[in-house]
Amino acid sequence: MLFSETSRTIENYLWELSRCTEFYERHGVTRRLYTTAWQKAQSMIFDWMCEADLDPWIDAVGNVHGRVQGSSDQTILTGSHVDTVVDGGAYDGAYGIIAGIMALGEIKSRQISLPRSLEVVALCEEEGSRFPMTCWGSRALLGQVALENLSLQDADGVSVKEAMRSCGLDPHHIEWAPSCYYTGFIELHVEQALQLESLHCPIGVVDTIFGQERWNVSIVGESAHAGTSRLANRHDALVASSEMVLGTYRLAQQHEEKAIGTVGRLQVHNGTSNCVPGQVNFTVDLRAQSDLLREALASELRGLFKDCGRRYGVGIAIDQYSSANAVPMHLELQNLIQKSAKTHHLDTLLLDSRAGHDAQIFGTTIPTAMIFVPSHQGLSHHVNEFTNAEDLMNGEKVLRDVLERAANAMFS
Ligand SMILES: [Zn+2]
Repeated sequence: MLFSETSRTIENYLWELSRCTEFYERHGVTRRLYTTAWQKAQSMIFDWMCEADLDPWIDAVGNVHGRVQGSSDQTILTGSHVDTVVDGGAYDGAYGIIAGIMALGEIKSRQISLPRSLEVVALCEEEGSRFPMTCWGSRALLGQVALENLSLQDADGVSVKEAMRSCGLDPHHIEWAPSCYYTGFIELHVEQALQLESLHCPIGVVDTIFGQERWNVSIVGESAHAGTSRLANRHDALVASSEMVLGTYRLAQQHEEKAIGTVGRLQVHNGTSNCVPGQVNFTVDLRAQSDLLREALASELRGLFKDCGRRYGVGIAIDQYSSANAVPMHLELQNLIQKSAKTHHLDTLLLDSRAGHDAQIFGTTIPTAMIFVPSHQGLSHHVNEFTNAEDLMNGEKVLRDVLERAANAMFS
């Protein structure tokens, strides 16, 4: 039976895919790049693409593709990522792949002639849960990966190169050029926030994906005896860091409509209960709707940290180790999503994505859009991540309609 004709629902497929996890004894889904669980998931998706008659293939980095050939090679791409965070949910990424296969399977079964081709891809990696890199799959599709990335290592010292070989992939082929011409990318994804559910709105149309930057911050003070050193003489790296953490939080509070900031990791070096902390390292994650605002907030935060450092007599080193610009979604594709939702009598909400996505990578190069469906309680990257069956089906219907319109060259 063809994938498109089966009585299995999106939920059934999501459940089956969620069984491909590294830790069966734990409740969440863990599927990191090039692990056995990841291989099992990509193989399952390959089989589903066969059932949907999409002539699947696997590319050099392990993305799995399925295709409906139109009269030209110009291709509208859909799909999402197959990897997860550690102890993540069953919907993040997986939903966009499964709905994409269903949509293309249904279109293929009608044997209609399309001016453009359609393709669905299970992108091999987005989250950065195993190696210090993100969106490996989408970057590879755009020719944005390099051989030096192969030497990056996971926490156990395994390199990308070794991990690829363990999956039967040849690491020397990663710098290939895509064989077909991608004209657009449309990603369907769970919202991972509360707006749609709280407004009882079934379909979100993403306007902009927030830009973001991450820092490693090192605060160097002076270790001292916790009993004998007077407060006035201390250079306490942890007290200074605490003010910086709170400063980041308060700055985010002031700009929450358009920006957000987080300290997610803080380490006290050689911390013991009877010592004044001499060194602290922490991270800062800063995101904003526009690059101008992000730059302004980053500059304000650096000033705040500097002032803190002066008052506590500690040294500060800030290393910005990653940054990505805000990416506006393509206006014509946004309009197509709205038209499609209207056809199915579904309300839409224009919203921003504060989370990074593969669409952020594609959006810098080709016309790109994102469709969101509600996430229950806004939970994501969590075992209780959930979207109800009706919302899942609504998203797939809208995706299918948008893909068909885009394949019929209804946007330029
Ligand atoms: Zn995702």
